Amino acid sequence: MKRIQLLPLGSVDPELLSDLSAGLAREFLIPCEVLTAVGEPAFAYNVTRQQHSSTEILASLAQRNTPDTWRLLGVTSLDLYIPILTFVFGEAQMGGNSAVISLHRLRDEFYGLPPNILQLRERLLKEAVHELGHTLTLPHCEDYQCVMSPSHGVEWIDLKSSRFCGKCRAAVPSRAEVKALNGSAHISSSRRFA
Ligand SMILES: [Zn+2]
Ligand SMILES: [Zn+2]
Repeated sequence: MKRIQLLPLGSVDPELLSDLSAGLAREFLIPCEVLTAVGEPAFAYNVTRQQHSSTEILASLAQRNTPDTWRLLGVTSLDLYIPILTFVFGEAQMGGNSAVISLHRLRDEFYGLPPNILQLRERLLKEAVHELGHTLTLPHCEDYQCVMSPSHGVEWIDLKSSRFCGKCRAAVPSRAEVKALNGSAHISSSRRFA
């Protein structure tokens, strides 16, 4: 059955992951599972920047797709970058099925503040929905409350919701489309056993 798969890259709090998994299943109407963690992506480390390349991590995720993968989302505590920016909260394959998000700059501790677990959960869900939105070919949205509005800092993330606006929602599979997606997967697997 097609599902959203969360892949922890290195150590990530299991409670955060199960909360995120429930939030994504709710938002996309597609089952979501947390996969067994793999090691930290040392191959993507840039010594000069002391950050990890989100683009290199994405390329490695693309090789981990299985027949059950609808979308594969890597989750890491490491700080991510792309060459033209100081940092990124995440990156996605536009129209592909892989994305990666980082917890590093979503934590209030990064800004010298006390931990705020509720806020962290919300930020994580918003960033995850946002990056998965890009895999559905959604560009950035001008509606500041829409989850697809761009975020250049956590303040921006806190301003928006975890929901798609009406316009962006049209790119997200409907309940019927999700059913068809998994209905056909079921038929092909039962044929294999016939
Ligand atoms: Zn974006
Ligand atoms: Zn929108």
